[in-house]
Amino acid sequence: MKSKFSRRKFSTTKTKTYPGPFGEQPIFHSLPSRLILIVFCLLLFLNISEIAIAAQPDEPLVEVSGLDSTIIIDMRYASEDNFVKVQLYPVARCLLRKSVAERLVRVQKRLQALGYGVKVWDAYRPLSVQKKMWEILPDPRYVAPPERGSRHNRGAAVDVTLVDSLGHDVEMPTEFDDFSRKAAPTYPHVSETAKKNRQILIDAMEAEGFKGISSEWWHYDAPRYRQYPILDEPLDRVETDSGYKIKN
Ligand SMILES: [Zn+2]
Repeated sequence: MKSKFSRRKFSTTKTKTYPGPFGEQPIFHSLPSRLILIVFCLLLFLNISEIAIAAQPDEPLVEVSGLDSTIIIDMRYASEDNFVKVQLYPVARCLLRKSVAERLVRVQKRLQALGYGVKVWDAYRPLSVQKKMWEILPDPRYVAPPERGSRHNRGAAVDVTLVDSLGHDVEMPTEFDDFSRKAAPTYPHVSETAKKNRQILIDAMEAEGFKGISSEWWHYDAPRYRQYPILDEPLDRVETDSGYKIKN
């Protein structure tokens, strides 16, 4: 005859049970556990789908004006007309990852159909420039710390404003790199014209998958921008359309 102790010992090797509504059931037969299992499988599936359509991290940088010459380029950091009042870019080149640039071209087509266009203030920014910016203004409210890197360093973020069909500036809530509350894309106390123009830009950018941020109406990130590595290729050395390969 087996002792109580040995029976108890034996029972610990059995499948764990759960006191469900239909009596003792194996743990994964209980309703909450099944739900957890379903949610887990769903998350796993979504994650796999996300990876399947993920951005190509080695996507080359391309010249935006090479894809669409109607997009106006006004690289502010290639001049002293910026918040640090120092020329940070040696050349006024507007570079973006290929699929991001193509996305921006589609935004331009949408805006042109409405009698507008896009003007770019900033796009790919080498990490070395980010470091220089940080040296001039080491304040994370205005400049992303270089150890974290800016989304612009990935070639997957762009600063844009709206222009009319002739390429002239239209009224917007603020100037570029205005760090006041007025720069928030939801800030309500701006003129009706500025509000309308801001919305036209938001609608066109979002329609092509770009996502804005809460503090700057001009800044947009491409979908899955984090998957692109941070780059430090100097702007005057990036070769495009001629077999340039990014060296990570
Ligand atoms: Zn930006």
